[in-house]
Amino acid sequence: MDHIKKSLKAGRLGSICVYCGASNTVNEAYLRLAEKLGRELASRDIRLVYGGGGVGLMGACARAAHERGGEVLGIMPRFLLQKERMYTEVEHRIVDDMHTRKMMMFEEADAFIVLPGGIGTLEEAVEILSWARLGIHAKPMAFLDEDGFWEPFFQLIEKIIEGGFIPEDFRGAMVHCATSAEAITALEDRRVVIDL
Ligand code: AMP
Repeated sequence: MDHIKKSLKAGRLGSICVYCGASNTVNEAYLRLAEKLGRELASRDIRLVYGGGGVGLMGACARAAHERGGEVLGIMPRFLLQKERMYTEVEHRIVDDMHTRKMMMFEEADAFIVLPGGIGTLEEAVEILSWARLGIHAKPMAFLDEDGFWEPFFQLIEKIIEGGFIPEDFRGAMVHCATSAEAITALEDRRVVIDL
């Protein structure tokens, strides 16, 4: 594999995958943040790739992007169609299982933004980070919140680095941001282009 040269290069992102909570019973401010992100993606002409639901932050982000004229791709496993109320106003794909959904979301995106969410959001983000750790990809990830929601997670990552479990340069794989604009710009700056 030594013919593959990796060079860090800032670059425009075509698609960003957003991981976020599916619950509707959350603080309104989280839903507003998801809407702001959806609008920012649309205004920058970046496609939103997401889990396809019409509920919670997922639905808020997708609706806002669509209403602003943005491109959206939702990917939903068949068994969650009712529960997560698939948002059908945008391009959507129905897949057989969770693993196919996760892989397709990963493949369709150049980078990731993680909004506040629950166990599913955490699992998706950590799995993508674990793939970065294994060298499977070099797609950057931004954690976005206005209230320090992800601060304890970044503190845990620092503990993990201090403990010697991951190298210090792993910090470069992830960034913590307070606005959508800042998150997208940070991802563009960290974009890794692989020259074959
Ligand atoms: P949550 O953060 O728990 O509200 O879930 C957010 C989204 O993640 C929902 O669309 C869930 O279907 C999805 N999700 C839940 N568990 C997993 C998992 N193990 N892997 C990938 N996605 C999941």
